[in-house]
Amino acid sequence: MIQMSNPAELRSAIKEERFKAAREGKELKVGLVPTMGYLHEGHASLLRKAREENDLVVLSIFVNPIQFGPNEDLDRYPRDLERDQALAKREGVDIIFAPGTQDMYPTPTKTKVQVAELTTGLCGAARPGHFDGVTTVVSKLLHLASPDRAYFGLKDAQQLAVLSQMVRDLNMDVELVPCPIVREADGLALSSRNVYLTAEQREEALVLSRSLFEARKWYDSGESITPREIRRRMHDLIAAQPLAEIDYIEIVSFPSLEPLAENTAIQELTQPILLALAVKFGGTRLIDNILLHSNEVPVHV
Ligand code: AMP
Repeated sequence: MIQMSNPAELRSAIKEERFKAAREGKELKVGLVPTMGYLHEGHASLLRKAREENDLVVLSIFVNPIQFGPNEDLDRYPRDLERDQALAKREGVDIIFAPGTQDMYPTPTKTKVQVAELTTGLCGAARPGHFDGVTTVVSKLLHLASPDRAYFGLKDAQQLAVLSQMVRDLNMDVELVPCPIVREADGLALSSRNVYLTAEQREEALVLSRSLFEARKWYDSGESITPREIRRRMHDLIAAQPLAEIDYIEIVSFPSLEPLAENTAIQELTQPILLALAVKFGGTRLIDNILLHSNEVPVHV
């Protein structure tokens, strides 16, 4: 495993590996796993999939400042490169790309990649500019690593929808591979931000996955239920937790992220449906979701 921080070095290291393989008459498949570090089993699941499907696995670790708003947690975002290196090694990563802000943005940037419409609702409403930061940095990483495949978690379902649109619209030659959400045994979706939670907040935060699993039960029960009614019931469950401050509970089509007819029974709809929420506990904003009409199986650590 090698580590580098210089973008040009990453590009030439990957080119070199491709040439080497070509000289032996082989085609090298490169898998990229972009992260902000402070790795957990969710990230590990992406790395494992990338390891299975590719010859060279590149892990990027970069806390991307341009996807954070002015009052967000950029400065206190957890970092532990040594621990990340150990996890990466365990998962068979070939290259860690861990640039600093100056490496990625040496001069003030004047170019942004922006996906319209898909970025205005859900997390985009509370975090203006966030997805422009994500699409810009992921574009840069895709250009630098030119991977055959890039791996993203369904934990950030809107991010995946936005990036898929970007890749299609800009004819990028990469396959985006969606990976299921990894949860703690008690249901809490793994997130680097979970370390911010006090014991009491963490206990209450279980309501996120619990309300989503309840919604799946209502949906599966055969009872005719509308999106409006699902949202109402989920709202009641979450609002019953004293420390929870609901940002949004939304039911939309996936991956087009369009609102559903509020008064149509959800069972009558045939497209995949995303049930997504964001809830704050103190200063910590957590997101979680499930997909209905899909074969996604929950993964627990
Ligand atoms: P982050 O470091 O939070 O930017 O996440 C990097 C990648 O890991 C993103 O594609 C996330 O969707 C994915 N990821 C984060 N948490 C999880 C999880 N609990 N399960 C699956 N993927 C995850």
